[in-house]
Amino acid sequence: MAWRSSGSTNEALVANLERHGLITTERVKKAMQSVDRAHYAPSMPYEDSPQPIGHSATISAPHMHANAAESLLPRLQPGARVLDIGSGSGYLTHVLAELVKPGGTVVGIDHIQPLVDLAKANMAKSAEGRELLESGVVKFVKGDGRKGWSEDAPYDAIHVGAAAAEHHVDLVDQLKAPGRLFIPVGSGWGGQYIYVVDKKEDGSVTREKLYGVQYVPLTDAPS
Ligand code: SAH
Repeated sequence: MAWRSSGSTNEALVANLERHGLITTERVKKAMQSVDRAHYAPSMPYEDSPQPIGHSATISAPHMHANAAESLLPRLQPGARVLDIGSGSGYLTHVLAELVKPGGTVVGIDHIQPLVDLAKANMAKSAEGRELLESGVVKFVKGDGRKGWSEDAPYDAIHVGAAAAEHHVDLVDQLKAPGRLFIPVGSGWGGQYIYVVDKKEDGSVTREKLYGVQYVPLTDAPS
């Protein structure tokens, strides 16, 4: 059902994602309704497919954004601190910020400066987005996401929007206890899987392998 959820408006897209069981919670539904994908996806914003945003990056498909938000939801309470690695278009960063209102903060990190700038520009297209940026609720930074972003750690939730070659220890280190990491790991066609990594209250870590995906890789920055 993942690819059948396209709509002609943001509202219709979200309704179709819910109809096909890709959105199951009221909170994620409301958050995705409140962020217009047209501000983040250059063409066909309401298609349920990934789309190019330049610099070999893509905005992920809506069903992946929905699933990532739903997976992280237990850790996305008001006031939570979140890291969005490979923030790209900035779309999911915005949705995550809606989910941790009031009092939460989200850092979006990308290693390509024009994409850091693009995410800010996209977010500034709406009054709500401008408010998130101006108040410091959301900030976009440039850096190597494989190392996380220690400045604002620890995080209740970390989302990774590009496929990691390995399980980077820095990311688990930067989780709170409890905290949750959503990350695609692996390489090549058929070799990538989503993992949900939980750090429990006592500091112990569990890792659950979910389903196969196709993400752009988490790499060295282009020179
Ligand atoms: N969540 C984004 C996905 C963008 S595609 C969206 O839906 O718009 C993946 C992103 O990961 C790209 O923007 C790419 O520049 C970024 N990326 C790749 N390797 C990275 C690294 N080592 N550190 C930070 N960002 C990285």
